[in-house]
Amino acid sequence: MRTSIATVSLSGSLTEKLTAASRAGFDGVEIFENDLLASPLTPEEIRARCEDLGLTIDLYQPMRDIEAVPEEEFARNLRRARHKFELMRRLGADTVLVCSSVSPLGIDDDALAAEQLSRLADLARDSGVRVAYEALAWGRHVSTYDHAWRIVETAGHSALGTCLDSFHILSRGSDPKGIADIPGEKIFFLQLADAPLLAMDVLQWSRHYRCFPGQGGFDVAGLVQHVLSTGYDGPLSLEVFNDVFRQAEAGPTAVDARRSLLVLQEEVGVAAPPAPVVPTGVAFAELVTPDAEPVQALLRALGFARTARHRSKPVHLWQQGEARLLVNTGPAVRRDGTQLAAIGLEFPDPPAAARRAEALLAPVLPRRRALEDAPLDAVAAPDGTELFFCATDRPELPNWRADFEETGDAEQIAGVTRIDHLALVQPWHHFDEATLFHSSVLGLRAQESVDVADPYGLMRSRAVTNDDAGIRIALSVGAAPTDDTVHAQHIALATDDVVAAARRFVEAGGRLLPIPANYYDDLAARFEFADGELETYRELGILYDRDAHGEFRHCYTRTVGRVFFELVQRDGYRGYGAQNAPVRLAAQHIVKGLTGG
Ligand code: MG
Ligand code: MG
Repeated sequence: MRTSIATVSLSGSLTEKLTAASRAGFDGVEIFENDLLASPLTPEEIRARCEDLGLTIDLYQPMRDIEAVPEEEFARNLRRARHKFELMRRLGADTVLVCSSVSPLGIDDDALAAEQLSRLADLARDSGVRVAYEALAWGRHVSTYDHAWRIVETAGHSALGTCLDSFHILSRGSDPKGIADIPGEKIFFLQLADAPLLAMDVLQWSRHYRCFPGQGGFDVAGLVQHVLSTGYDGPLSLEVFNDVFRQAEAGPTAVDARRSLLVLQEEVGVAAPPAPVVPTGVAFAELVTPDAEPVQALLRALGFARTARHRSKPVHLWQQGEARLLVNTGPAVRRDGTQLAAIGLEFPDPPAAARRAEALLAPVLPRRRALEDAPLDAVAAPDGTELFFCATDRPELPNWRADFEETGDAEQIAGVTRIDHLALVQPWHHFDEATLFHSSVLGLRAQESVDVADPYGLMRSRAVTNDDAGIRIALSVGAAPTDDTVHAQHIALATDDVVAAARRFVEAGGRLLPIPANYYDDLAARFEFADGELETYRELGILYDRDAHGEFRHCYTRTVGRVFFELVQRDGYRGYGAQNAPVRLAAQHIVKGLTGG
């Protein structure tokens, strides 16, 4: 199907918006009137620009407060419409959106509304324009799609149809089933937006919190199924008002938008990108660093051994159990401190996973590898993290491990068994995009979003996992400007005995994040512990939580560059210690204050 996007969904000037939409692969745009008014280009120039970019102008929007008004007011509205239809002729746009009136002059009279819309449609037809009438969820007398359709049906005019908008329909809790009763040729346009489920004024909700399909809580795909059942063959068009997208760069937002429509089309069965291949685990996490010593000291204290070195690059493999960390000191390293730059994900079929990623617009990275290296496919996640498509036990496929030769260093045994989860801090404007990326491109399941209090702001966090939790990624975003030391990435290492692992770490010279005594007094009030247990946690800085499935004990290392480690003992527990995150964040701020960095 053709895809379209309203210019209001993207930031920047009109030409920036058009360029971003075109680059992301959209077929057309809705021109939002304010974007046109603010543009120095003439309508003819805008039309030419769209043609150059391969975009059609699918809708001009909106015209407001037209229908069901006293006659002298309606005469003024027709005069306004005549101007707009002339503008549309110059623009080469043939469909105009008229949204239901919010005017205090509006009269609650469906027959009058139908009669005046019919007269508007007469004028439109003479100008070669069609009118798509949409019910605003906060319209004064018409606020539901079925009501708007009844008026259109009553008018019975060939140049008058309805525009369906998933936000207006689903935010009111209307049943979209009734859409199937509207003849497809009378649905002149379909606008799509999702939104998080919020209990708030519907106008504010619409103007600030709309998001792309798959990023909120509405069943947008279900609604689209009903629309398609009518024979509707117009574009799927995104109309998203969102405070974050208004500020974010238009290019990535447009790609995120188009990806949401690709996934939606897959869901409703009108497109079939390569099927998802869900990763089964983490092959490796790669740290890049300009100064390997601090991170190597930390890894040694955690019980990792440098078991292998890359044959052609300054990269070492540090291993313990199934936890594999690459430390890269190569020239490609960014000079802003140690950071988690890449993740190798294990897939049953890496090439198929890479094909899906590419089909869903993930930026494919060049295989910048030496001659003898395994040519791994890789893409960039929205935050820039490189994701490698790996297979460890498939002799017929390139094996990343074959690029490494053993150092002879024996693996130490300090109780770390595997990587439990990776916590990736997202740039503030990529959070919803990151969730959709990980769920659609990688086939991971997104869990509920949680808010965590940080002493200097609010952090949102959302985990994505596969079915057996062999891979867990916690995505988070801070509302406050990113503090690199505190809002760093972290790698959580699983152990069967966190007390023993923490003790070994401390005895090896490692330093754990100190946790305030007040936290342990609170734990004592909330839970009962065996004799001495709480004292041990207090001494080491181990945090504790419990959910319906089991217990969780965890502690944190100090931060190196922009990365820190967590040791976790998970006994059935399914969460990530969100309850403890505010204490951890506050403790990190305190350490940062003491050390000045
Ligand atoms: Mg709309
Ligand atoms: Mg964690």
